[in-house]
Amino acid sequence: MRPFTFEKARSSEDALSKKNSDSHFIAGGTNLVDLMKKTIAQPQQLIDVTGALSSEVNLTNNILTIGAMASNSRVASDKIVKEKFPLISQAILAGASPQIRNMASSSGNVMQRTRCPYFYDISTPCNKRNPGSGCSAIDGANRMSAVVGHNGQCVAVHPSDFCVALSALDASVSIKTKDQKDIKIPFTDFHKLPEDTPWLDNHLPDDAIITAIEVPDNRFGKHTSYVKIRDRTSYAFALISVAAALDMEGKTIKNARLSSGGVAHKPWRWLEAEQFLNGKRVSTEIFEQAAQLAIRDLKPLSENAYKIPMLQGAIVTALQNCIKPL
Ligand SMILES: Cc1cc2nc3c(=O)[nH]c(=O)nc-3n(C[C@H](O)[C@H](O)[C@H](O)COP(=O)(O)OP(=O)(O)OC[C@H]3O[C@@H](n4cnc5c(N)ncnc54)[C@H](O)[C@@H]3O)c2cc1C
Ligand code: SF4
Repeated sequence: MRPFTFEKARSSEDALSKKNSDSHFIAGGTNLVDLMKKTIAQPQQLIDVTGALSSEVNLTNNILTIGAMASNSRVASDKIVKEKFPLISQAILAGASPQIRNMASSSGNVMQRTRCPYFYDISTPCNKRNPGSGCSAIDGANRMSAVVGHNGQCVAVHPSDFCVALSALDASVSIKTKDQKDIKIPFTDFHKLPEDTPWLDNHLPDDAIITAIEVPDNRFGKHTSYVKIRDRTSYAFALISVAAALDMEGKTIKNARLSSGGVAHKPWRWLEAEQFLNGKRVSTEIFEQAAQLAIRDLKPLSENAYKIPMLQGAIVTALQNCIKPL
């Protein structure tokens, strides 16, 4: 590991004033420290933001505000989150382990980097770690990789479970820039596809800090499900995950949300399937038709075509779980 300095920031303004191109913010450290040990991240300066940002979770004026430093455990166990935003709680609890969730912050979770094995193996080409060097996964071990939204530059998937739920619920990311501007980025626009800049995971400007995540109060509190399929039932990232939320009127779907992890460089919304479900009376048949719409445009790689039937099944299961209380 390269030597680095460590400073504690007292506020978001203080953190931003200390930041330069060779520094990294650190929160729980559960991702960044691993990256530093492997020399994938080599900051000269770490700025500890744990005392600089809110760790509160509040519902005010119909907006749930999750402070950037609210730990994943804190958010998942929050009474209001469990009652009104259960999808968030279900998704967080499907990830990592209790110990990691205790340390992991909300902003760190949103900013965590891909788990593509080549990104962590510094002896291999990887456009995300070493721009322009190539992508080892495209013709290599790609069973965990993307099936949609990928290109010849990078086929990695975003690893977070929390983010899949947030992408389904109209969340936004509140950021502050060095010139003290407060900006909200819609969650679905926060992460990006590889495009020509696969080394960038999201649209957070270099000179900005995440201060909170906001989720508008919604009518998805009663019928939600997070289905995660993985190699082990604990301590493993999603091969496929599905966040489903239905706003129901009797047995008719007023508004549907379907989002997935493990399929793309960003949490992926199945917008066509959502549109199809809106206004329909629930039945296994329409759930199967929605799943069929979702898988229609997938482009699997050499080792991950198994994700197509897996996704299809996970969508149907998640939707069926949503209506179990009916
Ligand atoms: C063994 C293991 C298993 C895991 N399994 C899962 C899983 O199944 N599902 C899942 O979703 N996650 C999983 N994780 C990932 C875990 O959720 C993340 O490591 C964690 O959420 C990162 O949060 P942190 O606070 O520790 O971030 P840190 O490691 O401190 O930081 C991560 C990144 O976020 C940046 N950052 C942090 N705060 C801010 C801020 N306020 N503004 C701007 N940038 C910021 C840092 O600069 C850094 O680049 C796993 C991790 C491990 C180690
Ligand atoms: S998929 Fe992306 S992260 Fe993985 S080797 Fe290719 S460029 Fe690197």
